[in-house]
Amino acid sequence: MTTVVGLCRSFRDRALARCFHCFPCLSDPARRSSLGLKVTLVMLHLIFVGILFLFDDDLIEKTKKEPWYTALYLSLFFATLVQYFITSSSSPGYVVDVMRTFNETNVMYQKSSLASIQPASSKNGSLIVTVEGSQSGRNFQGSNPSSWTKLVMDMYPPGTPVRSCTCSYCNAEQPPRAKHCHDCDKCVLQFDHHCVWLGTCVGRDNHCKFWWYICEETALCLWTGILYISFLKANFSRAWWKDVIMILLLIVLSISILFLLLLLLFHSYLVLTNQTTYELVRRRRISYLRRVPERVFPFSKGVCRNLYDFCCVRSSIYSLESLPSPEELEEKSRPYTCLDVLTCRCC
Ligand SMILES: [Zn+2]
Ligand SMILES: [Zn+2]
Repeated sequence: MTTVVGLCRSFRDRALARCFHCFPCLSDPARRSSLGLKVTLVMLHLIFVGILFLFDDDLIEKTKKEPWYTALYLSLFFATLVQYFITSSSSPGYVVDVMRTFNETNVMYQKSSLASIQPASSKNGSLIVTVEGSQSGRNFQGSNPSSWTKLVMDMYPPGTPVRSCTCSYCNAEQPPRAKHCHDCDKCVLQFDHHCVWLGTCVGRDNHCKFWWYICEETALCLWTGILYISFLKANFSRAWWKDVIMILLLIVLSISILFLLLLLLFHSYLVLTNQTTYELVRRRRISYLRRVPERVFPFSKGVCRNLYDFCCVRSSIYSLESLPSPEELEEKSRPYTCLDVLTCRCC
């Protein structure tokens, strides 16, 4: 018995080693689970849509008469899958990446400044290097590691200790709204949540892609649900078990639609008020939000500007957000008057 078990194990190990040799990416357990997740998602989509085309003769007839209708539906189907893969493979915006870019930009800026200063200074026989980089109101002096610390500390109120803004896992200073994700083992800018379904975090750089993904997924599920109901309502003879399968799938689909619609509405609300799921759920635990009154959104710049920033502003170190000053918070918490409504203060 022990020999049989040993033989099975050795056969399994050899098969796995052969598999990992052919596909090296599978040797990493994290990558394996991520791949498994993606395969599951594609399979689920194929099952829900495939069964429809397999059972629904009416839909096949309709496709022959009006091919544009099915073409439109299949376009949405493929667009949703593509959007899923784009979102899951995109970076949410890691603090270490921005920090590296910042330091590289800083070094390049210093070198170019040095090159432009050198000839003039050489004439006098002395070399004076002064770098006065001031972009977006921020001071970029020096290329030593404390430059990043200075940039980050400028975003917090004066007197904030550096230690309270440093991640104990990455040992990097976190700008406001960043949080360490234990699944990704990195600090994420404008951390929203770690999405198990995508296998990555949702943060500053991919929140917009995530919103579009749930929007497309909701539309696809709704359209598929309508096609399922049309099938069940159609008066043509078919096997009873086909109806049972379709009803069961429709129940699963209805639950998914409800969940997706709520998720879409919730994230749309977050976008319009410039909040993240983490900030909304853990408002009392986040030090910089603890003193902010309820229903005051400290990072909101008005609905239109929030929407513009969410859709159009590219990821860069200049789009890091500072904590609002007490005066700004006071202005935001001021109650609305009739004049504010007329002048669209919220926009
Ligand atoms: Zn961290
Ligand atoms: Zn994560």
